[in-house]
Amino acid sequence: MPIANGDVANGTPVSRKVEVLDHCKALQVLESAYESRDGLDITSLLNSKENGALTYNDFLVLPGYIGFAASEVALDSPVTKRISLKTPLLSSPMDTVTEESMAIHMALLGGLGVIHHNCSADEQADMVRKVKRYENGFISDPIVLSPKTTVGEAKELKEKWGFGGFPVTENGQLHSKLIGIITTRDIQFHPNADDSVTEVMSKDLITAPSGTTLAEANDVLRKSRKGKLPIVDAEGNLVSLLSRSDLLKNLNFPLASKLPHSKQLIAAAAIGTRPDDRNRLQKLVDAGLDVVVLDSSQGNSMYQIDMVKYIKEKYPQLDIIAGNVVTREQAANLIAAGADGLRIGMGSGSACITQEVMAVGRPQATAVHAVASFAAKFGVPCIADGGIQNVGHIVKGIAMGASTVMMGGLLAGTTESPGQSYINREGKLVKAYRGMGSIDAMEDKKAGGGVKNSKTNAGTARYFSESDRLLVAQGVSGSVLDRGSVTKFVPYLLAGLQHSMQDIGVKSLVELRDEVNSGKVRFELRTVSAQAEGNVHGLDSFEKKLYS
Ligand code: IMP
Repeated sequence: MPIANGDVANGTPVSRKVEVLDHCKALQVLESAYESRDGLDITSLLNSKENGALTYNDFLVLPGYIGFAASEVALDSPVTKRISLKTPLLSSPMDTVTEESMAIHMALLGGLGVIHHNCSADEQADMVRKVKRYENGFISDPIVLSPKTTVGEAKELKEKWGFGGFPVTENGQLHSKLIGIITTRDIQFHPNADDSVTEVMSKDLITAPSGTTLAEANDVLRKSRKGKLPIVDAEGNLVSLLSRSDLLKNLNFPLASKLPHSKQLIAAAAIGTRPDDRNRLQKLVDAGLDVVVLDSSQGNSMYQIDMVKYIKEKYPQLDIIAGNVVTREQAANLIAAGADGLRIGMGSGSACITQEVMAVGRPQATAVHAVASFAAKFGVPCIADGGIQNVGHIVKGIAMGASTVMMGGLLAGTTESPGQSYINREGKLVKAYRGMGSIDAMEDKKAGGGVKNSKTNAGTARYFSESDRLLVAQGVSGSVLDRGSVTKFVPYLLAGLQHSMQDIGVKSLVELRDEVNSGKVRFELRTVSAQAEGNVHGLDSFEKKLYS
């Protein structure tokens, strides 16, 4: 065991005299430190009866030995039996958190955004389609215009899809002769919206033949200085498209979540378990869905078990995340039905009043450990969902056995969540955030400062069924502080995670979970005063700036 700077492995402080101890005595010091290990193992931590069940704030992880740089820590982790992410973070399927922009950016950053279902099936499918189209090597199903398309229609398509470069073919379809390409610049200032796109399109085309490799096509695109490179067959028919901005995105987002055989981002979306949700799912699958999340606050139901079985049978290629659960028995039913991943949490969410109103739920650290340790036996990865307020909570969720964590409130204030930031009465820049079981969300009242860009409408069945005459709220509606873009915030969370793993002395999330199970990673309970000590105290004033 190495001795570094007078400190002994696993953080046991030793006086500076150790440096001059001979080898034999140094070994004795180490042995005595390991005879009875400091702190608590995971079982003792969770089984100390007088403390009841634990939340993330009730304990700390003890530091270990730092023998590597923080940047060496690997954060990849499975989210389902088949899919692994490079970033162990998911955004929650809530109408103030995840629509296409969040889903795209979470996936670009190596995580996953689960698109909410508080909207029509068509709107949700449209969002899935946008995620799948967003970043591609070769875009195999580009939007294609026909000579009959007008400049006005092309402008509308630009608004709808967020990009303005479209190929034009003889019949407006893929696999038809390419006759031109239009860019945003061609249509932007064109005075007559009724003119055909053929009047403004560029006919001087640089193309590449089908069979061109991605690397070769990238090379042509770079040299041509064009925005798009159409790929054509021997007869000049359009077969696919390569986009320059995708090239840049590939360079900027090396962690992006993609399936091994695909250049497209992974798309995840939530649905309920009502008969209608089967039709909704068909539309989502047609749009390219990869992961479906069965969204229920109490997932252990005949409805969800039937749905898992139905999906497994009809869409074997689709990964299913079932939940939510907080007990081993709930988990067992869903695992037995065929769930590929589980979502853990009931009542721990920041906008949640389930525990208060329904008297059911479980403190999150205990819930995560109970379910994840059981699910691990069957190779089913778990998501610790709800109650994540900071990097430390992510670490603790993973230390309790989760493979990934899901966040609502922590991401609701970012630029990529639906809606606009606004200045509240105290002059703070905030963004709306509401529980999906809040009366607001259930009735979809767009209250003052609400989700103006959201595609919400009444439709979620997470917290009520259509036959319910009286809505019983399980969530509240409010706001969170504006946080800027997830493109800064998520990298901060990841850097924080790596530093924490380094302090604990583990080089990966897998190692963290293994060493928690083997008893090598130790814990300490926190009293109320310990919690106060661990927070900023005694300062007249301070600014809590988390990253720069
Ligand atoms: P947060 O990250 O602490 O804000 O928690 C987000 C999680 O809270 C979601 O992923 C859901 O599991 C849960 N949740 C969302 N809306 C409600 C609600 O209205 N009541 C209870 N839990 C909710």
